[in-house]
Amino acid sequence: MNPYESIGISNVINAAGKMTYLGSSAIYPDVVEKISKVAQSYVDMEELKTTVGRLLAEKVGAEDACVTSCCAAGIAISIASVLTGTDMNKIESIPYVLSEPNEIIIQKGHMVSFGANISQVINITGATIKEIGTVNSTKKYHLEGAINQKTAAVLYVVSHHAVSNGMLSLEETISSAHKYNIPVIVDAAAETDLDRYARSGADLVVFSGHKAIGGPTSGMIIGSKDRIRACQMQDKGIARMMKVGKESIMGLYFALENYYKIDKDKQVEEYTEMVNTLEKMLQDIPITTTKIIWDSTRPIPRLQLHLLQDNKYSAKDVISKLESLNPSICTRNHLADEGIIQFDPRELHNEELEVIARELKKILQ
Ligand SMILES: *Cc1c(COP(=O)(O)O)cnc(C)c1O
Repeated sequence: MNPYESIGISNVINAAGKMTYLGSSAIYPDVVEKISKVAQSYVDMEELKTTVGRLLAEKVGAEDACVTSCCAAGIAISIASVLTGTDMNKIESIPYVLSEPNEIIIQKGHMVSFGANISQVINITGATIKEIGTVNSTKKYHLEGAINQKTAAVLYVVSHHAVSNGMLSLEETISSAHKYNIPVIVDAAAETDLDRYARSGADLVVFSGHKAIGGPTSGMIIGSKDRIRACQMQDKGIARMMKVGKESIMGLYFALENYYKIDKDKQVEEYTEMVNTLEKMLQDIPITTTKIIWDSTRPIPRLQLHLLQDNKYSAKDVISKLESLNPSICTRNHLADEGIIQFDPRELHNEELEVIARELKKILQ
């Protein structure tokens, strides 16, 4: 029996992807087995956290790393760290920022909600947000004109939630910020190319442990030894409220080990086969078109079902009908306003494709 059924909660067929609101990733069985041993034993937590940080950093080609409870926590801790450095007095004072620098620069097109607003993640540290550019365009002069003695860092968001056109690229952002010795913090929550952001020269990069990496709910910040030390020290301050347990710390390490062992090309082939199969199954549904589309920054194919205008239901109607089933079918819905429902293969099982096709046909035929 599914563990959730025992408390009356329905099972989920996850065609949405690695979404925090659905419990993110199914953890690989051998990783789960190792975590269960960790859960039953004691360890010096500070030693565990710094040791695992170093090991994670080695894997992604960074100098050091700090394990966090999630990516959002990692962003808050990174921002706190550039406000306080290693000054305990400043660390204990957050969210009161005792001295300049206290401003975080961010492009307007990066002011996203990933289920919570990134503005709140910044505000909780006591930093002041300085938005630059417009929602569809940021220029180098916007960034360089905003930098002054109050600037603590530039926050850069890599995500499908962010505006993709007209924004400064990561390279442009780093080049301008570094000209004035301003650090760049990257929110790379769900990115798959873990080495790329360390190589880019960004000062602190934050990942979710439970998205691409497929670990338990967790996160990590990577950066230089000094910068990561300032992050680790937030455990005596704001990060105490974002505590990460031994199971998650070791779980993230085991998951990352596993992540580098996976044959990524083969995995993409499997995903492609799944979306092709689902596309074939959905061919005879009237007043819809299908298309395979690829993620803008990661090698992920998705099936896109477009409901044409004279359909009896809107995409939003279909989404809520699918969700109300048991098992509940959850899809990727950020284009629902345009009549588009997406099916992400990453957390799907082959036998679930037929269930999805059957239920969609029942609704739309
Ligand atoms: C998911 C996400 C987050 C938050 O990640 P958590 O690990 O769930 O806290 C932050 N930023 C972006 C761009 C995301 O996609």
